[in-house]
Amino acid sequence: MSFSVDTLRTGTGSGGRAVVDHRLERRALINEYRRGRLRREQLCDAHPELIRAARNVGTPSKVICPICEETNLTLVTYVFGPRLPSHGRCVTTKKDLAQFAGRSEDLDAYVVEACINCRWHHLLRVLPLGGKRPRAARKLAAPDAPAAPDSSDAPAAPST
Ligand SMILES: [Zn+2]
Repeated sequence: MSFSVDTLRTGTGSGGRAVVDHRLERRALINEYRRGRLRREQLCDAHPELIRAARNVGTPSKVICPICEETNLTLVTYVFGPRLPSHGRCVTTKKDLAQFAGRSEDLDAYVVEACINCRWHHLLRVLPLGGKRPRAARKLAAPDAPAAPDSSDAPAAPST
C-alpha cells in the first residue's frame, strides 16, 4: 500500500471545507476494541511512513495510547492539496503551517495521532487551510459553499 491521503483516513471521508472532527469515531473504535469486537491488528496497522514521521518529526502528546496503554501518542500533521505530492507534505513546524495557510489553493491539513509502540493510528481532524483568494472570486467559484470564518484558516496546535 502506498502512502496517500487514504492511508490516513480511518473512517468515512468527508468533503467540504469545514473542520471535520473524528473524535466520536475514535471513541467508538476504542469501545469496540475493549468489547472485543475489534482485534488489535485491525486497529494498529499504521503505515510505516506514518510511524517514521511520528518518530522523527511528530509532536508528543500527553495522551496515552488507548490500545497498548504503554506509550504516549504522537501527533503528525500532513497537508494535502494541489501542487503537493500525492502522499502529502508532512508539516513539522508552525512556520511551515503558516506558509501553507497563506497559499491561494484550497488545502487540507490532516492531524493524525499515532502510537509508535503498537502502531495504533487515527485521523483526529481535517482542517481547511489556504484558499486565500479574493472573496468575489471565491463566491463565483463556489456559490453554495458555506463561508468559512477566516480564523479557521490557521489551525491551532493540536491540544489533545
Ligand atoms: Zn499503542
